Amino acid sequence: MNTEQLIEITEKYGAHNYHPLPIVISRAEGIWVYDPEGKKYMDMLSSYSAINHGHCHPKIVEAMVSQAQKVTLTSRAFHNDQLGPFSEELAQLCEMEKVLPMNTGAEAVETAIKAARKWGYQKKGVQKDMAEIIVCTNNFHGRTITIVTFSTEESYREGFGPFTPGFKVIPYGDSQALEDAISTNTVAFLVEPIQGEGGVIVPPSGYLSRVREICDREKVLLMADEIQSGFCRTGKMFCFQHENIQPDVLILGKALGGGILPISAVVSSDEVMSVFRPGDHGSTFGGNPLACAVARTSIKIMLEEDMARQASEKGGYFMDKLVQIDSPHTKEVRGKGLLIGLELKPEAGGARLYCEQLMAKGLLCKETHENVIRFAPPLVITREEMDLALEKIADVLK
Ligand code: PLP
Repeated sequence: MNTEQLIEITEKYGAHNYHPLPIVISRAEGIWVYDPEGKKYMDMLSSYSAINHGHCHPKIVEAMVSQAQKVTLTSRAFHNDQLGPFSEELAQLCEMEKVLPMNTGAEAVETAIKAARKWGYQKKGVQKDMAEIIVCTNNFHGRTITIVTFSTEESYREGFGPFTPGFKVIPYGDSQALEDAISTNTVAFLVEPIQGEGGVIVPPSGYLSRVREICDREKVLLMADEIQSGFCRTGKMFCFQHENIQPDVLILGKALGGGILPISAVVSSDEVMSVFRPGDHGSTFGGNPLACAVARTSIKIMLEEDMARQASEKGGYFMDKLVQIDSPHTKEVRGKGLLIGLELKPEAGGARLYCEQLMAKGLLCKETHENVIRFAPPLVITREEMDLALEKIADVLK
């Protein structure tokens, strides 16, 4: 089938919960993807930062195939020989004690919310059913009912009520607002170190360290959602490391699966994780040996290839060059490492239009919010490839 036919049946039989650009990807390698007609495109989105290693990294594919020939799924009714080593390696990478594996990002966020509430009742002495979690405006943590409960994007909520109680929303980047919002029932503050879906919003420098101090003082868990910003994307293994702090609960997903399989995890202390008892929480596929083997290799490669340094150096170069493009349409360029947002002026006509034009030139980007083009290529992109992309971006922006 060709591109047109594939889009037609996808539209006909699939729910229309996405508005993709009109391209079909049928093959991919590194930073390049190909449509069924063989046309080549550069991937500047990396599946919303899940493909940090590049598409189909040969060592991760090899690990997956090799594990698939041994054992893929055991459920947690039994142990498997990958989950233990995976948990040890991930806990050590995060400098934390315990790992709880899930599959998608949203499930990991839900898991963290459950952990925080139970911790609040058991360890902080909050009264039954009174636990409160503070979140930020413009957040994105996933799409479940509980998570969209505290989204400030009306379209994510419209038609999906009734919602889950127990959340308070404060402005992002405002540590005073956090201090003011905390009550005796507050168990956790859930925050993205950079808001990716929100339009690549970078909070003021020092924000996370102040938040850390406040959470320590008030005995509130600091829960960092690094599903998008984690695993080298911003130039450090985890984005919170830019401020030399450590969260109490770290929520991970996306690139943990090496761009190949879904695997997510909540990583925390013995104290927090000890609230979970057999029967409290689980997932049939969570901790499956196939995904664990893939994630172990994915972590190993991030370290071996020093992907944090790569993202830091390449991101600096790319962002500098983007800023230098003299365009009447650009309002601001912002980001960290290779998580970069270019905000267009409101009168520019909307980011979608620019993404369509970039696509016609062989560059795949996606708008986030009305006016922001996100540039988040796989971290293995080369200087020459960045220059090629920048040429096309400059053409479209001018
Ligand atoms: N949290 C953040 C910060 C995200 O960026 C995303 C996805 O974009 C999620 C959670 C949800 O992850 P998933 O789509 O795997 O459920």
